[in-house]
Amino acid sequence: DPHGAQLRARAVIDLAAVRANVRTLRERAPRAALMAVVKADGYGHGAAPCARAAVEAGATWLGAATPQEALALREPGSGVPADVRVMCWLWTPGGPWREAVKADIDVSVSGFWALDEVVAAARAAGRPARVQLKADTGLGRGGCQPADWAELVAGALRAEAEGLLKVTGLWSHFACADEPGHPSIAAQLLTFREMVAYAEAQGVEPEVRHIANSPATLTLPESHFDLVRPGIAMYGVSPSPEIGTPMELGLRPAMTLTASLALVKNVPGGHGVSYGHHYVTAGATTLGLVPLGYADGIPRHASGGGPVLVEGKWRTVAGRVAMDQFVVDLGGDEPGEGAEAVLFGPGDRGEPTAEDWAQASGTIAYEIVTRIGSRVPRLYV
Ligand code: PLP
Repeated sequence: DPHGAQLRARAVIDLAAVRANVRTLRERAPRAALMAVVKADGYGHGAAPCARAAVEAGATWLGAATPQEALALREPGSGVPADVRVMCWLWTPGGPWREAVKADIDVSVSGFWALDEVVAAARAAGRPARVQLKADTGLGRGGCQPADWAELVAGALRAEAEGLLKVTGLWSHFACADEPGHPSIAAQLLTFREMVAYAEAQGVEPEVRHIANSPATLTLPESHFDLVRPGIAMYGVSPSPEIGTPMELGLRPAMTLTASLALVKNVPGGHGVSYGHHYVTAGATTLGLVPLGYADGIPRHASGGGPVLVEGKWRTVAGRVAMDQFVVDLGGDEPGEGAEAVLFGPGDRGEPTAEDWAQASGTIAYEIVTRIGSRVPRLYV
């Protein structure tokens, strides 16, 4: 049973949707290569299966945050072809640089300590490292400040001349690409062009220059350069309501989260529901117990608001979300134990979407899908 009806709950992942989304994104950036961002276990969808699906649809790069995530994509069991480039950008001192160099992983370098460590790792590994220099063009997070860029570029070129590394990429990341027209977007693009031009004038010959995340891939062709780096959109989730709904963007949400009702019972009016009694039944009604809670990534902030489709009707979380379970008021309907509760999915069966849960929880849809916990089995269709 691909839908795992015997399970308490399941996240069904539609890999055909991932493939279709990657194809759609490639059509939006026809001259650029595509890096499928599969960090955080593929935004909760499963890194290896989504990486394979993205590669089948034409992705030639995979992006990971931590070195462990990147190295896992190089394990034969991942099924990721060896000729797919893997890049990794979140390093800390003492990280597994040597393993990354040996595994032919492109490593991001934002600062001098990282340059020192990657050079030492290349010496030890006996082969040059593939290094992508990251510029802070305005995000104010990772990346090298413009004031330090000349020195970082010079250091990288010295190591390149010694055969210890190759600068394979120059790259950056947007702060506000999900707010089209935000003045920081044009400012970051200008700074990026200047920092790239400076490095190239010094003799850097990068294979790829890139800055575009999902919203930039979808809305900002001048940001595509040689490579686009979409994450959320490949899973069919919208980067923000301002950019559009998944349907408006031609994307199909890949994850459907459902649970089987664990209990359906009649209660009288005036009955407090769940911790704190923040919900009290207005009259005699039926309550359904959904066996998912904040330990599974259901936001506690969705208490009183998160939508669930049961037998064709939208119900909302009644009272507080607990660690492992929450309650919905079924308004007198008696679906019976085992009935399916759909928390979110593509929306075309009338079910809520991850965007609806984000709105009910005061967060973004990225957080909804990414936090679905490891206790919820992923089933691939
Ligand atoms: N590039 C980097 C460096 C990132 O950290 C991320 C994710 O936050 C992405 C690309 C993908 O962003 P998005 O999911 O908005 O497409």
